[in-house]
Amino acid sequence: GGPPPPRPPGRGRRSGAAGLGERTFVAIKPDGVQRHLVGEIIRRFERKGLQLVGLKLLQASEELLREHYIALRDRPFYSRLVKYMSSGPVVAMVWQGLDVVKTVRTMIGETNPAESRPGTIRGDFCVEVSKNVIHGSDSVESARQEISLWFRPEELTCWEDTAEHWIYA
Ligand code: UDP
Ligand code: MG
Repeated sequence: GGPPPPRPPGRGRRSGAAGLGERTFVAIKPDGVQRHLVGEIIRRFERKGLQLVGLKLLQASEELLREHYIALRDRPFYSRLVKYMSSGPVVAMVWQGLDVVKTVRTMIGETNPAESRPGTIRGDFCVEVSKNVIHGSDSVESARQEISLWFRPEELTCWEDTAEHWIYA
């Protein structure tokens, strides 16, 4: 009796690559939280059919943010970026699904909101590159690094999504 055991991530009905177990890191930035966009943003990913496996609200330290954006350390906006990201609480999330890294980036839009199409999160909710409301990992490898930077393994929950059969072939 009892429900079937949860499917292990990255295995099961899609073989090769990460398949349905692919994960990405998303953060709603301090401006997104202050502008009460948390529910709207989560709603978009949830309705798309992506699976939420980690979620927390936190005030990130400058140390964490310097590490998170380490690849941009030589850019002129790096210090401003770290200050902005630590200026208030952020909502850190891990979303899972087929091609989730690319899908989330598409739903977020371009780095510069002015180049983001309507219908994307940045296209709909912001105007300046320095206040662009949301972060999403840009590759499967950076997603892996960012998830391990922001979350302890036990903060991520592997659960059976009963809608999965209606979302995937
Ligand atoms: N950013 C900025 N000025 C710029 C470019 C980027 O303030 O000219 C900030 C912006 O918040 C952006 C973040 O730095 O989201 C990270 O830059 P990246 O190029 O990785 O863009 P993203 O991956 O977030 O689209
Ligand atoms: Mg980036």
